[in-house]
Amino acid sequence: MNIISNFQTNFQTISKINLLNLNLQKMRGFLINIEEKPFRANQIMHWIYHYFCDDFSKMSNLSTKLKEKLKKYSIIYSPKFIKKKKSIDGTIKWSFLTNKKYVETIYIPEKHRTTICVSSQVGCALKCDFCYTGKMGFKKNLQVFEIVGQLWNLMKLAYDKKNRIKKITNIVFMGMGEPLLNFKNVTIALDIILNKYGFNFSKYKVTLSTAGIVPIIDKLSKVQDIKIAISLHASNDQIRSKLMPINKKYNIKSVLQSANNYLKNSKANKGKITIEYVMLNNINDSLKDAKELVTILKNIPSKVNLIPWNCFPNSMYKSSTKKNIFCFSDFLTKKGIFNSIRKNRGKDITAACGQLNNNIKI
Ligand code: SAH
Repeated sequence: MNIISNFQTNFQTISKINLLNLNLQKMRGFLINIEEKPFRANQIMHWIYHYFCDDFSKMSNLSTKLKEKLKKYSIIYSPKFIKKKKSIDGTIKWSFLTNKKYVETIYIPEKHRTTICVSSQVGCALKCDFCYTGKMGFKKNLQVFEIVGQLWNLMKLAYDKKNRIKKITNIVFMGMGEPLLNFKNVTIALDIILNKYGFNFSKYKVTLSTAGIVPIIDKLSKVQDIKIAISLHASNDQIRSKLMPINKKYNIKSVLQSANNYLKNSKANKGKITIEYVMLNNINDSLKDAKELVTILKNIPSKVNLIPWNCFPNSMYKSSTKKNIFCFSDFLTKKGIFNSIRKNRGKDITAACGQLNNNIKI
């Protein structure tokens, strides 16, 4: 399957192109290659992303000749979910296989919205000490069709009402991996998510979380306006470098600076960057830490999302107590920093933040 689905622009060099790898622009290029009119890309994408159609013969507004060519040179292939685990809170963890490794996608239904948490890599190179995915190490970058396919599969299920999957309203890149270290594929996937012939999501409903890869935040700012969340997790470099080795390369000051620059060119963030702060008992949760956080965020329009730490085997960390989390939150509120405490969903099926590590070889 990999040969078929690898992204290629020249259709003659491989057997078939997987259309789930192509944004509108690349789809147009493909149509020109097969000597068809580029505007047909709009219709084809509409079939794929609005009707979840993967059968060319059903694309009723395309000519027979075009349908035959599409069949000859392309395929619409998404990775199939082979495992499903449901939490008592309604969260569902879906897994598919790539290179004999499981990749996980989380479906999180809530009263007024339904979020999908997508993975961008298998494993992660950043090795944040409090994160189970980090403990797997880096395995591979997901291809565009593997990122888009996670959404396509779940939205297809939701499209068919009998599956009782709710309509997806929000997308977060908070699954496995560091999305900015798979920049090319993630930005093509974002094109498909945001394009009106693609999934047609509003930029206000798509969030990318990053550990703060400074030059790539700057690069993203030039091509994509979406909501971004910065995994800060500490209020000084000494603690942050211990928790997140990437801080030795891009320290707090540089990360906040580039987040602020992103904000200047962004409408999606509505003037405020989201700062994620994992609450670790006796590590970063004292009043002194809260004070320091207020100081470093003084000139950064931001809102803070406090994340109670989710446990995983053999970790030395503990989540902060509820009391400490509330004290921390109260202090920020008193100092005028808007903040919220994340409800960690799907903990019983290890589907909560930082628990994704299904590294089972088959
Ligand atoms: N690589 C991206 C996405 C990571 S997952 C990033 O670093 O932002 C989304 C969030 O969950 C990040 O803020 C991450 O730091 C946090 N996280 C990781 N492990 C966690 C854990 N065990 N408990 C709570 N949050 C965790």
